[in-house]
Amino acid sequence: SVPLTFFGGIGGASKQGVLVKGSNYLEALARTDIVVFDKTGTLTRGVFNVTAIHPDRCSEPQLLELAALAESYSSHPIARSLRDAYGMDMDESRVTHVAEIAGRGVKAEIGPAAGEGGDVRTVYVGNDKLMEEMGVSWHPCHHVGTTVHVAAEGEYLGHIVISDEVKPDAKAAVAALKAAGVRRTVMLTGDAQAVGEAVGKELGLDEVHAQLLPAGKVERVEALLGQKAPKGTLAFVGDGINDAPVLSRSDVGIAMGALGSDAAIEAADVVLMDDKPSKIAAAISIARRTLVIAR
Ligand code: ADP
Ligand code: MG
Repeated sequence: SVPLTFFGGIGGASKQGVLVKGSNYLEALARTDIVVFDKTGTLTRGVFNVTAIHPDRCSEPQLLELAALAESYSSHPIARSLRDAYGMDMDESRVTHVAEIAGRGVKAEIGPAAGEGGDVRTVYVGNDKLMEEMGVSWHPCHHVGTTVHVAAEGEYLGHIVISDEVKPDAKAAVAALKAAGVRRTVMLTGDAQAVGEAVGKELGLDEVHAQLLPAGKVERVEALLGQKAPKGTLAFVGDGINDAPVLSRSDVGIAMGALGSDAAIEAADVVLMDDKPSKIAAAISIARRTLVIAR
């Protein structure tokens, strides 16, 4: 049977908005050696502001509208941000055959606006990798931020530059983990190298691996699992969008509860109700105190 003090630990954690799904995860949390973070929505707010719109062969509002339409049904933070930036009501009946292309972007068939002529077009919205795979060429551009390309019928239409901010407590969260004896802090992201490096430097993370597809994140986590200190554990923290496989692969999968998807909350062992990364070090110390009492 599980000692009562374990329930005390789980209860104490839940009062702080940290839901631990079992006493075995308290024990694993107490022994955290490596913490691996996803970037978007985990260390950053996941709310992107549009900083520039560069259309190639249409107007700025047309480019933004097309991107927002293609993103109508995506729950990715980038999709939400593009819809908010467009801001106007959209005729979603124009959008059919939507497909999410994990770590790259989205594809959708988009029909002409009501009262306007024209054919249904296949539209791709996403990163460099997506354009490369679709055989669409673009002029290389060097912006600070995340570049979202838009192409229709294989033709490049332009790009939108968006940027996210780190969460207010993210830097302190990383420092608190170090102070708690966590040996390595790592960030994995599907975003561009420059964006990943900037965030890593700002937050004082030990390592950053960028431009990873979901399968690449799993590979990285598997390699790190093999590098733990004896008796140490690996915790992964994510919002579950494009990282559910890593959440379940880790010793302790920690999900952001407010922003995260239902699938993430399901796959996770620990849920942070308020999405604050600083709660991870708090959870580790509650777990350790609980184990000391239980001994
Ligand atoms: P992160 O690792 O930062 O959490 P993801 O793995 O979710 O990011 O996505 C990686 C990259 O894939 C994003 O930076 C973006 O370039 C692209 N991407 C993913 N989903 C979308 C989408 N719905 N719309 C546009 N781009 C996307
Ligand atoms: Mg993600």
